[in-house]
Amino acid sequence: MSIAAAEILPDKRVTSFVKERRKLLIDGKWVDAASGKTFPVQNPATGEVIAHVAEGDRQDIDRAVKAARRAFESGAWPRLTPSERGRLVWKLGDLILENLEELAELESLDNGKPVTVARAADVPLAADLFHYMAGWATKIEGNTIQLSVPYAPGVKFHAYTLREPVGVVGQIIPWNFPFLMAAWKLGPALATGCTVVLKPAEETPLSALRLGELILEAGFPDGVVNIVTGFGETAGAALAAHPGIDKVAFTGSTEVGKLILQAAVNDLKKVSLELGGKSPNIVLRDANLDIAIPGAASAIFFNHGQCCCAGSRLFVQQSIFDKVVEGVADRAKQIKVGPGLDPDTEMGPMVSESQFNRVCGYIESGLSEGAKAVAGGRKRDGKGYFVEPTVLVDTTPDMKVIREEIFGPVVTAIPFKELDDDLVRAANDTVYGLASAVWTKDISKAHSLAGKLKAGTVWINCYNIFDAALPFGGYKQSGFFFFNVKESIEIYTQKKSVCAAL
Ligand code: ADP
Repeated sequence: MSIAAAEILPDKRVTSFVKERRKLLIDGKWVDAASGKTFPVQNPATGEVIAHVAEGDRQDIDRAVKAARRAFESGAWPRLTPSERGRLVWKLGDLILENLEELAELESLDNGKPVTVARAADVPLAADLFHYMAGWATKIEGNTIQLSVPYAPGVKFHAYTLREPVGVVGQIIPWNFPFLMAAWKLGPALATGCTVVLKPAEETPLSALRLGELILEAGFPDGVVNIVTGFGETAGAALAAHPGIDKVAFTGSTEVGKLILQAAVNDLKKVSLELGGKSPNIVLRDANLDIAIPGAASAIFFNHGQCCCAGSRLFVQQSIFDKVVEGVADRAKQIKVGPGLDPDTEMGPMVSESQFNRVCGYIESGLSEGAKAVAGGRKRDGKGYFVEPTVLVDTTPDMKVIREEIFGPVVTAIPFKELDDDLVRAANDTVYGLASAVWTKDISKAHSLAGKLKAGTVWINCYNIFDAALPFGGYKQSGFFFFNVKESIEIYTQKKSVCAAL
């Protein structure tokens, strides 16, 4: 099979990885799907097939869950000390760094993102996440509690809490940051001693499968991490509903997040969700426009706008509205759109044809409802799923482009008069609450607004800052629980109270 016309050929290791039919990782072995089926993986820069991957289904999920259960309850994994577990997680981070270039190219080929971004952000951040989480393995603690209950005269108690791994975890991840999301999910699960069945997105299964090889190379015991590639409605749904799973962790659309929650109801599985967004990005008139304009452009155009926290509603104070919009539109026009593997590319294609159609559909809907494009707005002809970076003005609050998550390089710029309750109301007027940002030189205004925005993250004079140590999560329909940091250790552990009468 050829790496069809990516224009620029990837590294040899990537070429040979995609050439081979990729299998499922179950119980430490690479196996075909029980059905024998495979599905094709496309290069979104050309639409051509670059790989064939096993199409896991209910039966494979069942095999993987059983392997994860065995690994959780017996075998080497539960016998490792926290320190040994932490060292394995650390080693995985090291192996990622050792293979950084190959992983970055594989991610770029599969997802379409610029290789320069995968090299500078996705892959090193994934390594950093494992390194950060490795340290938590030895820091999982309960506490001692003094009781006052009058049980019987003279009886005293010794009471304390334990934190135990939650068990077998089903993890379902999206296609926008395939490798990094695999790390965000696996890191805390492995640090806490859980075992995992990971289902990558069908659009972008390749880097997770390469990560599977590194997991084996690091020396994780068989069955600790199982990777089942397949479709959402089949493999994903089977994983979310499987009675052998103790917890489901999902990152993806709010729509599918609701299905995950419904699937978990039957046996009351624990669920953590990181879902969509429609984030307000607010530029006040006293902002330093030298940073606010490029910042606002990058807030929406980073990762082609395929970010759940993209700054897709740009609120700009009236007196500087034209200047900021012109600045963001100029940047949009200058962005070099092309295949991700081209080192000069600043924005790659949408991940798939359906995502391309969805984003174009939103642009058309905005224009037909009366919005005006001051940059982009047109379909690009030719191969690949490229969308022009687009800036829309003259929107109204009821338009679909304002209300719904587009998940593409499309920003709506909205003027506001004053920093008052009306602005706060407009910024919070969304079912989502993932991220937000404020650009201003006035720290009082910045912190006062930070307190009023209903969003899991507020960036001040910056955007898209992620760190393994910085909590990330959502208000409202953007999900439950925060990820990274200590809280993610908590959501992968179960608290137990122990009370002894002395
Ligand atoms: P998007 O809409 O951005 O493609 P999705 O939320 O559909 O994102 O997909 C995120 C992940 O959820 C993918 O791994 C996908 O396969 C999975 N998925 C999609 N539908 C379901 C479902 N019904 N049950 C479980 N997982 C699903």
